[in-house]
Parts: sequence; C-alpha cells; structure tokens
Amino acid sequence: METSTQSSTPAAVRPRSLSPSRASDFMQCPLLYRFRVIDKLPEKPSEAATRGTLVHAVLERLFDAPAGERTAPRAKSLVPGQWERLREARPELGELFADDAEGERTARWLGEAERLVERWFTLEDPTRLEPAERELFVEAELDSGLRLRGIIDRVDVAPTGEVRIVDYKTGKAPRPEYAEGALFQMKFYALVVWRLKGVVPRRLQLVYLGSGDVLTYDPVVADLERVERKLLALWEAIELATETGDWRPRPTKLCGWCDHQAVCPEFGGTPPPYPLAVPEQGRPVGAGESGQV
Ligand code: SF4
Repeated sequence: METSTQSSTPAAVRPRSLSPSRASDFMQCPLLYRFRVIDKLPEKPSEAATRGTLVHAVLERLFDAPAGERTAPRAKSLVPGQWERLREARPELGELFADDAEGERTARWLGEAERLVERWFTLEDPTRLEPAERELFVEAELDSGLRLRGIIDRVDVAPTGEVRIVDYKTGKAPRPEYAEGALFQMKFYALVVWRLKGVVPRRLQLVYLGSGDVLTYDPVVADLERVERKLLALWEAIELATETGDWRPRPTKLCGWCDHQAVCPEFGGTPPPYPLAVPEQGRPVGAGESGQV
C-alpha cells in the first residue's frame, strides 16, 4: 500500500519512475499528479488512509507468529501496538485525533480497524498460508528505460513454483464495471514480477476487507504486454507534461477527496509557480494561466 501523505515540501525533481498509485493519479487528473510528484505539496493525513496503513501493518505482522497462532483475537490484539508504532514513525498522524481529548473518536476508529482485521479471517485462512514475501518492494526497468516500482502486500509461492500476488484493500469491492480499473494495479505488479523473475504470476488477488469480497484474475502474457504498452504511453504523456509544464486538471467527482482544491484552477485557485525549467516556447500552462489549464 502506498500513500502520498507528506509533512514537508522537498525540492522538486523530474519524475524518474512510475508506481501504480502515481500512474492512477495521472490517469485521474494530470494536475493532481503534478501537485503530488513534482510540487510535492503536503497533504493532510486522512482517517481512512491511515486506518488502511494500520490494517496492512497488522496483517503483515501476524505472519511473524507460528501458523497455528494466527487467530483473529491475536490479530486484533496487535492493533493498538501497531497504531503506537505508526504514530512514532509518522508524528504528523498525531493531528488526526488532536481534538479528541476524550479518546472516543480514536476508540471508534481503532474498533473499525479491528473489524476489518477480523473480516479478513472470513476471506483467507492465515494458518494455511506461508507467504514468500510481505510488503515486498519491487522495481524493474523496461527495455525503454522506464522504471516501474511499487510495494506488493503479499507474495505466495506454491510448491509447484506458481506465484500469487495478493493486495489488501480496506475499502469495498468495486462494481463489476469498475473491476478493470481495480486490476490495473495488480497487472502493473505482475508485469514487474514478470520482468524481474521471468515468471508470469499465476494469480492476482484483491482482498476487499470493507465488503468481504475477493477479486481474482489469472493473467496471461498478452495482458502484461498490454499493460506495458499502456504504461509506456502514459509515461510519454507524463514526460511531455514535465517538459512543457502543461498539466491539465481533469475534474471528476474524485475532486471531493483532493487536498489541492485551493490551488486548482477548476476551483478558482492558482497553482504555485512551476518549479521545473521549461523551454521558452513551451510556457507552463499550469503556472498561473488558470484560463488555459
Ligand atoms: S481538485 Fe480535481 S481537478 Fe483539481 S487537481 Fe484535484 S483532482 Fe485535479
């Protein structure tokens, strides 16, 4: 699981690699990609995203225990300690519950995390799983030079050598017509694993803890070649926007979750000056010409 939450604004750099989250950002709204990747504008931590991070941490740590001890009560008992660890590692998360002096909202939020953890046991049986990898950072370079990277929640390898890539989602499963979008991230990871190890994963598995659903897909080489072509086209578009500074906003209902409305022309804002050099003739559209953006 990845997050773009940041507490400070590091110096702008040209994008050099692509992760599923940032690829999705660009597809959703190029200007959002710019704000996150190039301007590195800070974003407020959200309760939902932080709960997702916490649940992922618990599910990862549970596999430290011997198989027979991976029970729901044990997993739930890990929640407070993992929340403590998370807060220590990312002090900015403290602001989430800064106004909750009585601790009621925090307790409710932790209870929701426990319910998500508990639901996992209705979908998978960790006493029968021995992951080959957990929270695996992967990175591969395509022939074109494009670097793909990301973090895979879990990799299972069968005795026959077949690979299964698993990702946990704390939200609800998408409606069938949106399943393709949900699988994009998994196909991205499958492509990276294929490039790294020369093996096409046998199965991609999305585990939706919010709704109690499991979505699976068995990819073939043609799927991965298709996603590679898509990513190359996407990267070309990102490089062009980086060069020209022309990052268009693409308003959708997802704008409601965007932290950057105040600097978005679609909401009457003005983006900060574009921090990268652009050619004279390619005046950056996103650097103050709100009418054109
Ligand atoms: S508010 Fe909407 S259009 Fe504007 S940057 Fe965010 S996602 Fe893009």
